[in-house]
Amino acid sequence: MRLLRNRAKGPAGPDGLLRPPAAAVILSLIALLAPIPAGFSSAESRTVLIKGGALVDGTGNPPIPHVWVLVEGDRIKKIGKAGSFPRPRGSEVVHARGETILPGLIDAHVHLRTSGVVSFTFARRQSQAEEVFRRSLRAELLGGVTQVRDMHMPLEIGRKLTKQLQEEPTLGARLIYAGPMLTAPGGYGAPQAIEIASPVEGRERVEELALGGAEVIKIAVTSRTVNQSAIPCMKPEVVRSIVEAAHERGLPVAAHVAAATAVDLKIAVTAGVDSLEHMPGSWDPLGVPDTLYSTSGLVPEILARHITIVPTLSAEVGETYGPMISDLSDDPSLRLRLTPFQRHVLALNLEDFAHNSKRQAMAAAGRRRMQISLEEIGRLHEAGVSLAAGSDAGSGFTFHGNLHTEIELLNQGGLSPLEAIRSATQESARLLGVLEDQGTVEVGKRADLLIVRGDPLKQLRLLRAVDRVVIAGRVVDVQRLVNQVEKEVGR
Ligand SMILES: [Zn+2]
Repeated sequence: MRLLRNRAKGPAGPDGLLRPPAAAVILSLIALLAPIPAGFSSAESRTVLIKGGALVDGTGNPPIPHVWVLVEGDRIKKIGKAGSFPRPRGSEVVHARGETILPGLIDAHVHLRTSGVVSFTFARRQSQAEEVFRRSLRAELLGGVTQVRDMHMPLEIGRKLTKQLQEEPTLGARLIYAGPMLTAPGGYGAPQAIEIASPVEGRERVEELALGGAEVIKIAVTSRTVNQSAIPCMKPEVVRSIVEAAHERGLPVAAHVAAATAVDLKIAVTAGVDSLEHMPGSWDPLGVPDTLYSTSGLVPEILARHITIVPTLSAEVGETYGPMISDLSDDPSLRLRLTPFQRHVLALNLEDFAHNSKRQAMAAAGRRRMQISLEEIGRLHEAGVSLAAGSDAGSGFTFHGNLHTEIELLNQGGLSPLEAIRSATQESARLLGVLEDQGTVEVGKRADLLIVRGDPLKQLRLLRAVDRVVIAGRVVDVQRLVNQVEKEVGR
């Protein structure tokens, strides 16, 4: 109900045009917030046989047609040609003919505390409410994302959510979290981020974060905000001590380098961080960035140190011309992933964008910038740099459960559909340190799977056609849920 009240406070759209009728709003709110009402296999029926789809296993290998995948408990028990082993008695059967079975997608960079729906007319709402975090996790799962890495959240909420997910795996995507980001005094993200003044302090904070359940340490290594104002960058010796302390505990370090200069990048790379997050360089009004990974002279060292780049291209789309993204209309699970209030805000934005020349100019610059970023992805890929898919979901107009946009952009940058899918499965699993259990469809691994209609290798957009998601061996029938909500809201 909080959502309804907030909506009432916002600027009114043309009445009856943008707002769904109240009853429909309430019904779809129920569908969104209550435990998923239907479409789940029960906890008891713990053997699932997926019959007849093509398997894209996440390793980059070509697809195998007509497979059977047998799931027992939360693990993949057998993979074979159709009919090559008997159907175990009492198993639940999932028919996947004409469909494609993939590993559940893994988003290496999200922010669960926000939905991604922002606008010029509504202030960005930052909420600590656990409800928002849970809803984001749920949205990820419905979009086919079975594992996320949150890059800035309170440790207590991370611990709570982890416990809830252990008790009820179908609550949402699996969660790995960084806890609060570390930054220089007065640096990027301060004062919400933890400001680190010395190497000793850096080491102490890493210990605290590790004890608090963080499975990655996020640091800001940039001397510019995304709006190009100068800010203090973390000192090389501080970054080194953080990386050392994290690696001693087996934790990777992720460096936020959005808008970074070549000098900033060098600090992160030579300290041996594990991943560089976002694209560096600030850009002029025409969209031309002043720094690229490929022009920083650091690519040989990035390769030698096996540093992964998480470009978060979809966040750049979101912030600059998100309201124009039309890919949302043909995404069948969007109704489940955005609340009625969020869809309302989005509609207001589309409306505003159509008449707002300032936003249109920004979008034009954003498109040029994106073109340059896509060419850069091609160069990095060609050079052999590891690229992992992260959406930065939760930032402006970048929604949870929409890693598809990132995969499509990586493909536009020069990765084949198989390689782009691998960035969002095997590569991101490797970066998150969960490859032993996740990221590919192999016997013995966790049964975290995505089943989509059609062949996404022929048409990558079909990754959005999520039919079922399997998490910890439990089947979520996304299409059935979509149909149910569509029926309830009278569409
Ligand atoms: Zn981020």
